[in-house]
Amino acid sequence: MLSARPACRACQLGRSVGRTFSTTPRADKDKLVVLGSGWAGYNVARQVDKSLYDVTVVSPRSHFSFTPFLASAAVGTLEFRCTTEPIRGIKEVKYAQGWANTIDFDAKKVEVEPAVPAMPDFDADLANTPHPPVEKGMYKLDYDKLVIAVGAYSASFGIPGVAKHAHFLKDVQDSRAIRMRLLEILEQASLPSISQSQRENLLRIAIVGGGPTGVEFSAELHDFVEQDVYRLYPHLKGLVNITLYDVAPHILLSFDESLRDYAERKFKRNGVAVRGGSKVLAVGEDWLELDGIGREAFGLLVWSTGLSANPFVERLEGVSHDDKTKLLVTPHLNPVNPAGQPIPSVYAIGDNATPASGDRLPATAQVASQMAKYISKRLNGIATGEVEGEGKGEGFEWKNRGSMVFVGDYRAVVDRSASSVSGIRARISGLVAWVMWRSYYMTLAMGWRNKLLVPMYWTLAIFFGRDITRKC
Ligand code: FAD
Repeated sequence: MLSARPACRACQLGRSVGRTFSTTPRADKDKLVVLGSGWAGYNVARQVDKSLYDVTVVSPRSHFSFTPFLASAAVGTLEFRCTTEPIRGIKEVKYAQGWANTIDFDAKKVEVEPAVPAMPDFDADLANTPHPPVEKGMYKLDYDKLVIAVGAYSASFGIPGVAKHAHFLKDVQDSRAIRMRLLEILEQASLPSISQSQRENLLRIAIVGGGPTGVEFSAELHDFVEQDVYRLYPHLKGLVNITLYDVAPHILLSFDESLRDYAERKFKRNGVAVRGGSKVLAVGEDWLELDGIGREAFGLLVWSTGLSANPFVERLEGVSHDDKTKLLVTPHLNPVNPAGQPIPSVYAIGDNATPASGDRLPATAQVASQMAKYISKRLNGIATGEVEGEGKGEGFEWKNRGSMVFVGDYRAVVDRSASSVSGIRARISGLVAWVMWRSYYMTLAMGWRNKLLVPMYWTLAIFFGRDITRKC
Protein backbone atom coordinates (compact mmCIF):
# COMPACT_ATOMS: atom_id res chain seq x y z
CA MET A 1 0.00 0.00 0.00
CA LEU A 2 1.28 3.45 -0.84
CA SER A 3 1.90 5.82 2.05
CA ALA A 4 -0.61 8.64 2.38
CA ARG A 5 2.07 10.87 3.90
CA PRO A 6 2.67 13.97 1.72
CA ALA A 7 6.01 14.19 -0.01
CA CYS A 8 8.54 16.10 2.07
CA ARG A 9 9.80 19.50 0.89
CA ALA A 10 13.16 18.08 -0.23
CA CYS A 11 11.41 15.40 -2.35
CA GLN A 12 9.17 18.08 -3.87
CA LEU A 13 12.32 19.99 -4.76
CA GLY A 14 13.80 16.81 -6.22
CA ARG A 15 16.61 16.69 -3.66
CA SER A 16 17.89 13.95 -1.41
CA VAL A 17 17.14 14.29 2.29
CA GLY A 18 20.13 15.32 4.39
CA ARG A 19 21.98 16.97 1.51
CA THR A 20 23.56 20.12 2.90
CA PHE A 21 25.56 21.74 0.11
CA SER A 22 24.23 24.41 -2.19
CA THR A 23 23.12 23.95 -5.76
CA THR A 24 21.91 26.48 -8.32
CA PRO A 25 19.66 29.04 -6.58
CA ARG A 26 15.99 28.10 -6.88
CA ALA A 27 13.14 30.52 -7.15
CA ASP A 28 10.86 28.32 -5.03
CA LYS A 29 12.97 28.34 -1.87
CA ASP A 30 11.31 29.60 1.31
CA LYS A 31 12.25 33.17 2.23
CA LEU A 32 14.05 33.28 5.56
CA VAL A 33 14.43 36.75 7.06
CA VAL A 34 16.84 37.11 9.98
CA LEU A 35 16.55 40.27 12.09
CA GLY A 36 19.91 41.14 13.68
CA SER A 37 23.53 40.33 12.93
CA GLY A 38 24.81 39.50 16.43
CA TRP A 39 25.77 36.17 17.93
CA ALA A 40 22.32 34.74 17.27
CA GLY A 41 21.44 36.21 13.84
CA TYR A 42 24.91 35.93 12.30
CA ASN A 43 25.19 32.28 13.28
CA VAL A 44 21.80 31.43 11.80
CA ALA A 45 22.77 33.16 8.54
CA ARG A 46 26.00 31.16 8.46
CA GLN A 47 24.63 27.81 9.48
CA VAL A 48 21.27 27.53 7.74
CA ASP A 49 21.36 25.64 4.44
CA LYS A 50 21.23 28.24 1.66
CA SER A 51 20.16 25.64 -0.88
CA LEU A 52 16.95 25.31 1.15
CA TYR A 53 16.36 28.94 2.07
CA ASP A 54 16.63 32.32 0.40
CA VAL A 55 18.21 34.17 3.34
CA THR A 56 18.08 37.93 4.01
CA VAL A 57 19.67 39.50 7.09
CA VAL A 58 18.23 42.84 8.22
CA SER A 59 20.43 44.76 10.64
CA PRO A 60 21.56 48.35 11.13
CA ARG A 61 25.14 47.16 11.31
CA SER A 62 26.70 45.43 8.36
CA HIS A 63 28.90 43.26 10.53
CA PHE A 64 28.90 40.77 13.35
CA SER A 65 30.67 42.01 16.53
CA PHE A 66 32.81 39.51 18.39
CA THR A 67 31.93 41.04 21.79
CA PRO A 68 34.55 39.23 23.94
CA PHE A 69 37.28 41.18 22.07
CA LEU A 70 35.70 44.64 22.41
CA ALA A 71 37.54 45.43 25.66
CA SER A 72 40.91 44.45 24.09
CA ALA A 73 40.18 46.60 21.03
CA ALA A 74 39.25 49.58 23.25
CA VAL A 75 42.82 49.69 24.59
CA GLY A 76 44.57 48.81 21.32
CA THR A 77 45.61 45.23 22.15
CA LEU A 78 43.59 44.14 19.12
CA GLU A 79 42.61 46.12 16.07
CA PHE A 80 38.93 46.91 15.55
CA ARG A 81 38.69 44.71 12.47
CA CYS A 82 39.62 41.69 14.67
CA THR A 83 36.24 42.14 16.38
CA THR A 84 34.10 42.13 13.25
CA GLU A 85 32.97 39.83 10.44
CA PRO A 86 31.14 41.36 7.45
CA ILE A 87 27.63 40.03 6.83
CA ARG A 88 28.12 40.32 3.09
CA GLY A 89 30.99 37.89 3.53
CA ILE A 90 28.53 35.03 4.08
CA LYS A 91 27.99 33.35 0.74
CA GLU A 92 24.47 33.36 -0.74
CA VAL A 93 23.07 35.63 1.98
CA LYS A 94 21.41 38.94 1.14
CA TYR A 95 21.82 41.87 3.46
CA ALA A 96 19.58 44.90 4.05
CA GLN A 97 21.06 47.67 6.20
CA GLY A 98 18.10 48.73 8.25
CA TRP A 99 16.04 48.50 11.43
CA ALA A 100 13.08 46.18 11.70
CA ASN A 101 10.27 48.51 12.64
CA THR A 102 7.16 46.34 12.93
CA ILE A 103 6.07 42.81 12.06
CA ASP A 104 2.71 41.82 10.63
CA PHE A 105 2.54 38.17 11.73
CA ASP A 106 -0.67 37.46 9.78
CA ALA A 107 0.54 38.90 6.48
CA LYS A 108 4.10 37.62 7.14
CA LYS A 109 5.75 40.95 6.47
CA VAL A 110 8.46 42.93 8.26
CA GLU A 111 8.55 46.69 7.91
CA VAL A 112 12.14 47.88 7.55
CA GLU A 113 13.50 51.37 8.12
CA PRO A 114 16.71 51.87 6.16
CA ALA A 115 19.78 52.64 8.26
CA VAL A 116 21.35 54.47 5.35
CA PRO A 117 20.41 58.00 4.20
CA ALA A 118 17.22 58.04 2.13
CA MET A 119 17.54 58.58 -1.62
CA PRO A 120 16.41 61.93 -3.03
CA ASP A 121 12.86 61.64 -4.25
CA PHE A 122 13.44 61.61 -8.02
CA ASP A 123 10.61 60.64 -10.30
CA ALA A 124 11.27 56.95 -10.63
CA ASP A 125 8.31 54.63 -10.82
CA LEU A 126 8.71 53.56 -7.19
CA ALA A 127 5.49 51.54 -7.18
CA ASN A 128 7.10 49.07 -9.57
CA THR A 129 10.12 48.39 -7.38
CA PRO A 130 10.17 44.94 -5.73
CA HIS A 131 9.53 46.46 -2.27
CA PRO A 132 7.62 49.75 -2.80
CA PRO A 133 8.45 52.27 -0.06
CA VAL A 134 5.85 52.70 2.68
CA GLU A 135 6.89 56.05 4.18
CA LYS A 136 10.20 57.76 5.02
CA GLY A 137 11.93 55.22 2.78
CA MET A 138 10.48 52.34 4.82
CA TYR A 139 9.61 49.21 2.92
CA LYS A 140 8.14 45.78 3.60
CA LEU A 141 9.88 42.44 3.28
CA ASP A 142 7.91 39.21 2.87
CA TYR A 143 9.00 36.15 4.79
CA ASP A 144 8.07 32.49 5.01
CA LYS A 145 10.24 31.99 8.11
CA LEU A 146 11.41 34.75 10.43
CA VAL A 147 14.14 34.76 13.07
CA ILE A 148 14.02 37.63 15.59
CA ALA A 149 17.54 38.12 16.98
CA VAL A 150 17.83 41.85 17.68
CA GLY A 151 19.47 41.49 21.11
CA ALA A 152 19.13 44.01 23.92
CA TYR A 153 20.42 47.48 24.78
CA SER A 154 22.75 48.58 27.59
CA ALA A 155 20.86 49.43 30.77
CA SER A 156 21.26 52.82 32.42
CA PHE A 157 18.37 52.35 34.88
CA GLY A 158 17.18 55.87 34.11
CA ILE A 159 20.08 57.34 36.13
CA PRO A 160 20.36 60.98 35.05
CA GLY A 161 23.33 61.75 32.82
CA VAL A 162 24.40 58.16 32.08
CA ALA A 163 23.14 58.04 28.49
CA LYS A 164 24.75 61.42 27.77
CA HIS A 165 28.11 61.22 29.53
CA ALA A 166 29.02 57.54 29.97
CA HIS A 167 30.55 55.24 27.36
CA PHE A 168 28.86 51.87 26.86
CA LEU A 169 30.72 48.85 25.52
CA LYS A 170 28.33 46.94 23.32
CA ASP A 171 29.61 47.24 19.78
CA VAL A 172 32.75 48.12 17.85
CA GLN A 173 31.84 51.82 17.59
CA ASP A 174 31.65 51.95 21.42
CA SER A 175 35.07 50.35 21.62
CA ARG A 176 36.40 52.90 19.12
CA ALA A 177 34.87 55.82 21.07
CA ILE A 178 36.43 54.57 24.33
CA ARG A 179 39.86 54.30 22.71
CA MET A 180 39.59 57.81 21.31
CA ARG A 181 38.59 59.26 24.69
CA LEU A 182 41.32 57.30 26.47
CA LEU A 183 43.98 58.68 24.16
CA GLU A 184 42.45 62.13 24.42
CA ILE A 185 42.67 62.24 28.23
CA LEU A 186 46.30 61.11 28.06
CA GLU A 187 47.09 64.05 25.77
CA GLN A 188 44.98 66.48 27.80
CA ALA A 189 46.75 65.35 30.98
CA SER A 190 50.09 65.99 29.25
CA LEU A 191 49.30 69.66 28.64
CA PRO A 192 51.69 71.94 30.54
CA SER A 193 48.89 74.48 31.00
CA ILE A 194 46.77 72.44 33.44
CA SER A 195 47.05 72.07 37.22
CA GLN A 196 48.12 68.86 38.96
CA SER A 197 44.63 68.31 40.40
CA GLN A 198 43.06 68.74 36.93
CA ARG A 199 45.60 66.21 35.63
CA GLU A 200 44.72 63.70 38.37
CA ASN A 201 40.99 64.13 37.76
CA LEU A 202 41.42 63.58 34.02
CA LEU A 203 43.32 60.38 34.72
CA ARG A 204 40.61 58.96 36.97
CA ILE A 205 38.91 56.23 34.96
CA ALA A 206 35.64 54.99 36.40
CA ILE A 207 34.04 51.68 35.39
CA VAL A 208 30.54 51.04 36.68
CA GLY A 209 29.39 47.41 36.74
CA GLY A 210 31.39 44.54 38.21
CA GLY A 211 30.11 41.84 35.84
CA PRO A 212 32.39 40.11 33.31
CA THR A 213 32.42 43.07 30.88
CA GLY A 214 33.36 45.67 33.52
CA VAL A 215 36.00 43.34 34.98
CA GLU A 216 37.57 42.54 31.61
CA PHE A 217 37.68 46.18 30.60
CA SER A 218 39.35 47.12 33.94
CA ALA A 219 41.88 44.32 33.42
CA GLU A 220 42.69 45.33 29.83
CA LEU A 221 42.99 48.95 30.90
CA HIS A 222 45.33 48.04 33.76
CA ASP A 223 47.64 46.16 31.36
CA PHE A 224 47.57 49.01 28.85
CA VAL A 225 48.49 51.55 31.53
CA GLU A 226 51.27 49.45 33.08
CA GLN A 227 52.76 48.12 29.85
CA ASP A 228 52.38 51.06 27.47
CA VAL A 229 51.10 54.31 28.99
CA TYR A 230 53.80 54.65 31.65
CA ARG A 231 56.47 53.79 29.06
CA LEU A 232 55.20 56.27 26.46
CA TYR A 233 54.02 58.97 28.89
CA PRO A 234 56.70 58.79 31.64
CA HIS A 235 55.55 62.15 33.04
CA LEU A 236 52.18 60.52 33.94
CA LYS A 237 53.72 57.59 35.82
CA GLY A 238 51.66 56.52 38.83
CA LEU A 239 48.90 59.05 38.12
CA VAL A 240 46.29 56.86 36.36
CA ASN A 241 43.59 55.72 38.75
CA ILE A 242 41.26 52.86 37.74
CA THR A 243 38.16 52.35 39.92
CA LEU A 244 35.54 49.65 39.44
CA TYR A 245 32.21 50.48 41.13
CA ASP A 246 29.32 48.11 41.76
CA VAL A 247 26.16 48.43 43.78
CA ALA A 248 26.64 44.81 44.99
CA PRO A 249 29.26 44.18 47.67
CA HIS A 250 31.40 42.06 45.31
CA ILE A 251 32.27 41.76 41.62
CA LEU A 252 31.64 38.70 39.38
CA LEU A 253 28.58 37.61 41.35
CA SER A 254 27.75 34.84 38.86
CA PHE A 255 31.12 33.16 39.57
CA ASP A 256 32.08 30.78 42.32
CA GLU A 257 33.11 32.62 45.51
CA SER A 258 36.71 31.39 45.40
CA LEU A 259 37.18 32.81 41.87
CA ARG A 260 35.49 36.06 42.82
CA ASP A 261 37.92 36.42 45.75
CA TYR A 262 40.83 35.62 43.46
CA ALA A 263 39.76 38.37 41.02
CA GLU A 264 39.33 40.93 43.81
CA ARG A 265 42.74 40.05 45.31
CA LYS A 266 44.36 40.29 41.88
CA PHE A 267 42.82 43.71 41.26
CA LYS A 268 43.97 44.91 44.69
CA ARG A 269 47.55 43.79 43.99
CA ASN A 270 47.42 45.48 40.57
CA GLY A 271 46.15 48.74 42.03
CA VAL A 272 42.66 48.56 40.49
CA ALA A 273 40.29 49.85 43.18
CA VAL A 274 37.13 47.75 43.60
CA ARG A 275 34.37 49.69 45.34
CA GLY A 276 31.45 47.38 46.11
CA GLY A 277 28.28 48.80 47.65
CA SER A 278 28.56 51.95 45.51
CA LYS A 279 25.25 53.28 44.21
CA VAL A 280 25.55 55.87 41.46
CA LEU A 281 22.79 58.49 41.70
CA ALA A 282 23.70 60.80 38.82
CA VAL A 283 26.40 61.43 36.25
CA GLY A 284 27.71 64.72 34.87
CA GLU A 285 30.21 65.56 32.18
CA ASP A 286 33.20 64.81 34.44
CA TRP A 287 31.72 63.57 37.72
CA LEU A 288 29.57 60.84 39.17
CA GLU A 289 27.55 61.20 42.33
CA LEU A 290 27.59 58.31 44.78
CA ASP A 291 24.93 57.65 47.40
CA GLY A 292 26.24 58.71 50.82
CA ILE A 293 29.58 59.87 49.42
CA GLY A 294 28.97 62.71 46.99
CA ARG A 295 30.68 63.64 43.74
CA GLU A 296 33.85 62.07 42.38
CA ALA A 297 35.66 63.24 39.25
CA PHE A 298 36.46 61.15 36.19
CA GLY A 299 38.09 61.67 32.81
CA LEU A 300 36.48 58.58 31.30
CA LEU A 301 33.43 56.66 32.49
CA VAL A 302 32.60 53.21 31.11
CA TRP A 303 29.14 51.92 32.02
CA SER A 304 28.33 48.23 31.98
CA THR A 305 25.48 47.37 34.31
CA GLY A 306 23.47 44.87 32.31
CA LEU A 307 20.78 44.98 29.67
CA SER A 308 17.52 46.72 28.92
CA ALA A 309 14.92 46.01 26.24
CA ASN A 310 15.50 46.67 22.57
CA PRO A 311 12.76 49.28 21.82
CA PHE A 312 11.65 47.25 18.78
CA VAL A 313 11.03 44.23 21.02
CA GLU A 314 9.38 46.32 23.68
CA ARG A 315 6.78 47.78 21.31
CA LEU A 316 6.21 44.62 19.24
CA GLU A 317 2.51 43.69 19.21
CA GLY A 318 0.94 40.24 19.01
CA VAL A 319 3.59 38.65 21.25
CA SER A 320 4.04 38.01 24.97
CA HIS A 321 6.91 39.63 26.87
CA ASP A 322 8.39 38.79 30.23
CA ASP A 323 9.04 42.11 32.00
CA LYS A 324 8.94 43.87 28.58
CA THR A 325 12.61 43.16 27.84
CA LYS A 326 12.35 39.74 26.21
CA LEU A 327 9.97 37.71 24.11
CA LEU A 328 8.60 34.61 25.81
CA VAL A 329 9.34 31.52 23.73
CA THR A 330 8.26 27.88 23.65
CA PRO A 331 10.80 25.04 23.92
CA HIS A 332 10.99 25.18 20.08
CA LEU A 333 11.84 28.89 20.38
CA ASN A 334 8.64 30.17 18.77
CA PRO A 335 7.46 33.38 20.44
CA VAL A 336 4.05 33.02 22.07
CA ASN A 337 1.11 35.29 21.31
CA PRO A 338 -0.91 36.99 24.10
CA ALA A 339 -3.19 33.91 24.21
CA GLY A 340 -0.14 31.80 25.02
CA GLN A 341 -0.07 30.06 21.61
CA PRO A 342 3.18 29.65 19.62
CA ILE A 343 3.48 31.85 16.52
CA PRO A 344 4.28 29.43 13.69
CA SER A 345 7.25 30.05 11.35
CA VAL A 346 8.65 32.71 13.68
CA TYR A 347 11.55 32.16 16.10
CA ALA A 348 13.09 34.42 18.73
CA ILE A 349 16.63 33.70 19.87
CA GLY A 350 19.53 35.27 21.77
CA ASP A 351 19.32 38.13 24.27
CA ASN A 352 15.79 39.08 23.11
CA ALA A 353 14.25 35.71 24.06
CA THR A 354 13.55 33.82 27.27
CA PRO A 355 11.71 30.53 27.91
CA ALA A 356 8.02 31.04 28.72
CA SER A 357 8.34 28.35 31.38
CA GLY A 358 11.34 27.28 33.41
CA ASP A 359 14.50 29.13 34.34
CA ARG A 360 15.68 32.32 32.64
CA LEU A 361 18.80 31.78 30.59
CA PRO A 362 21.87 33.99 30.98
CA ALA A 363 22.28 36.73 28.36
CA THR A 364 25.48 35.37 26.86
CA ALA A 365 27.01 34.64 23.49
CA GLN A 366 27.10 31.02 24.56
CA VAL A 367 23.30 30.82 24.86
CA ALA A 368 22.75 32.91 21.69
CA SER A 369 25.01 30.71 19.57
CA GLN A 370 23.53 27.47 20.93
CA MET A 371 20.05 28.78 20.10
CA ALA A 372 21.26 29.75 16.61
CA LYS A 373 22.67 26.28 16.04
CA TYR A 374 19.43 24.67 17.21
CA ILE A 375 17.26 26.90 14.98
CA SER A 376 19.46 26.44 11.91
CA LYS A 377 19.28 22.67 12.29
CA ARG A 378 15.54 22.86 12.90
CA LEU A 379 14.94 25.07 9.85
CA ASN A 380 17.00 22.70 7.70
CA GLY A 381 15.05 19.77 9.13
CA ILE A 382 11.68 21.43 8.47
CA ALA A 383 12.66 22.12 4.84
CA THR A 384 13.87 18.57 4.20
CA GLY A 385 11.05 16.91 6.12
CA GLU A 386 13.37 15.47 8.77
CA VAL A 387 11.51 17.57 11.34
CA GLU A 388 7.82 16.84 10.94
CA GLY A 389 6.68 20.41 11.47
CA GLU A 390 6.21 23.29 13.83
CA GLY A 391 5.97 22.30 17.48
CA LYS A 392 7.29 18.80 16.77
CA GLY A 393 10.66 17.28 17.60
CA GLU A 394 13.13 18.00 20.38
CA GLY A 395 13.02 21.34 22.13
CA PHE A 396 16.01 23.59 22.79
CA GLU A 397 18.18 22.65 25.71
CA TRP A 398 20.96 24.95 26.88
CA LYS A 399 24.26 23.30 27.74
CA ASN A 400 26.24 25.28 30.29
CA ARG A 401 29.86 25.18 29.18
CA GLY A 402 31.09 27.37 32.03
CA SER A 403 32.35 30.95 32.05
CA MET A 404 35.72 32.65 31.95
CA VAL A 405 36.98 36.17 32.55
CA PHE A 406 40.35 37.84 32.01
CA VAL A 407 41.55 39.64 35.15
CA GLY A 408 44.75 41.20 33.80
CA ASP A 409 48.48 40.58 33.95
CA TYR A 410 48.31 37.17 32.14
CA ARG A 411 45.71 35.83 34.61
CA ALA A 412 42.08 34.75 34.22
CA VAL A 413 39.37 32.81 36.07
CA VAL A 414 37.52 29.86 34.56
CA ASP A 415 34.39 28.56 36.27
CA ARG A 416 33.20 25.18 35.04
CA SER A 417 31.78 24.14 38.39
CA ALA A 418 28.19 24.22 37.10
CA SER A 419 29.01 22.96 33.61
CA SER A 420 26.48 20.54 32.14
CA VAL A 421 28.78 19.17 29.43
CA SER A 422 31.37 16.48 29.73
CA GLY A 423 34.94 17.47 30.58
CA ILE A 424 36.59 18.98 33.63
CA ARG A 425 34.16 20.41 36.19
CA ALA A 426 36.51 22.78 37.90
CA ARG A 427 37.36 26.25 39.10
CA ILE A 428 40.66 27.40 37.65
CA SER A 429 42.47 30.67 38.21
CA GLY A 430 45.82 32.17 37.27
CA LEU A 431 48.11 31.62 34.31
CA VAL A 432 46.59 28.28 33.23
CA ALA A 433 43.15 29.89 33.18
CA TRP A 434 44.56 32.75 31.07
CA VAL A 435 45.99 30.27 28.53
CA MET A 436 42.58 28.54 28.43
CA TRP A 437 40.84 31.92 28.01
CA ARG A 438 43.04 33.01 25.11
CA SER A 439 43.02 29.62 23.36
CA TYR A 440 39.25 29.32 23.65
CA TYR A 441 38.50 32.74 22.22
CA MET A 442 41.04 32.35 19.45
CA THR A 443 39.40 29.16 18.25
CA LEU A 444 36.00 30.84 18.52
CA ALA A 445 37.01 33.66 16.11
CA MET A 446 34.66 33.12 13.17
CA GLY A 447 36.56 33.58 9.91
CA TRP A 448 40.08 32.67 8.84
CA ARG A 449 41.03 36.35 8.54
CA ASN A 450 40.48 36.83 12.28
CA LYS A 451 41.89 33.45 13.22
CA LEU A 452 45.14 34.76 11.68
CA LEU A 453 44.86 38.42 12.72
CA VAL A 454 44.06 37.89 16.41
CA PRO A 455 47.22 35.93 17.40
CA MET A 456 49.23 38.27 15.18
CA TYR A 457 48.00 41.40 17.01
CA TRP A 458 48.44 39.71 20.41
CA THR A 459 52.08 39.03 19.48
CA LEU A 460 52.62 42.54 18.07
CA ALA A 461 51.26 44.04 21.32
CA ILE A 462 53.80 42.03 23.36
CA PHE A 463 56.81 43.06 21.23
CA PHE A 464 55.90 46.54 20.01
CA GLY A 465 53.18 47.74 22.41
CA ARG A 466 49.59 48.65 21.68
CA ASP A 467 48.37 51.09 19.05
CA ILE A 468 48.11 54.56 20.61
CA THR A 469 47.61 56.47 17.37
CA ARG A 470 44.88 59.03 17.83
CA LYS A 471 43.06 59.47 14.57
CA CYS A 472 41.40 62.88 14.79
P1 FAD B 1 23.54 41.06 19.83
O1 FAD B 1 24.85 40.39 19.69
O2 FAD B 1 23.43 42.27 20.68
O3 FAD B 1 23.04 41.38 18.37
C1 FAD B 1 21.84 42.07 18.12
C2 FAD B 1 21.83 42.47 16.66
O4 FAD B 1 20.57 43.02 16.33
C3 FAD B 1 22.84 43.55 16.31
O5 FAD B 1 23.40 43.22 15.05
C4 FAD B 1 22.03 44.82 16.22
O6 FAD B 1 22.61 45.78 15.37
C5 FAD B 1 20.75 44.25 15.62
N1 FAD B 1 19.54 45.05 15.84
C6 FAD B 1 19.19 45.80 16.90
N2 FAD B 1 17.97 46.34 16.70
C7 FAD B 1 17.54 45.91 15.49
C8 FAD B 1 16.36 46.11 14.73
N3 FAD B 1 15.34 46.87 15.16
N4 FAD B 1 16.26 45.51 13.52
C9 FAD B 1 17.27 44.72 13.04
N5 FAD B 1 18.41 44.50 13.72
C10 FAD B 1 18.53 45.08 14.94
N6 FAD B 1 28.98 36.41 26.23
C11 FAD B 1 29.68 35.27 26.39
O7 FAD B 1 29.09 34.18 26.38
N7 FAD B 1 31.03 35.28 26.57
C12 FAD B 1 31.74 36.44 26.59
O8 FAD B 1 32.96 36.45 26.76
C13 FAD B 1 31.05 37.66 26.41
N8 FAD B 1 31.71 38.83 26.39
C14 FAD B 1 31.03 39.99 26.18
C15 FAD B 1 31.73 41.19 26.13
C16 FAD B 1 31.07 42.38 25.90
C17 FAD B 1 31.83 43.66 25.84
C18 FAD B 1 29.66 42.37 25.72
C19 FAD B 1 28.91 43.64 25.46
C20 FAD B 1 28.95 41.18 25.78
C21 FAD B 1 29.62 39.98 26.01
N9 FAD B 1 28.93 38.77 26.06
C22 FAD B 1 29.63 37.60 26.22
C23 FAD B 1 27.47 38.73 25.89
C24 FAD B 1 27.12 38.48 24.42
O9 FAD B 1 27.85 39.32 23.57
C25 FAD B 1 25.62 38.68 24.18
O10 FAD B 1 24.90 37.84 25.02
C26 FAD B 1 25.31 38.37 22.72
O11 FAD B 1 25.85 39.39 21.91
C27 FAD B 1 23.83 38.24 22.44
O12 FAD B 1 23.68 37.96 21.09
P2 FAD B 1 22.39 38.47 20.28
O13 FAD B 1 22.58 38.03 18.88
O14 FAD B 1 21.16 38.06 20.99
O15 FAD B 1 22.45 40.05 20.40
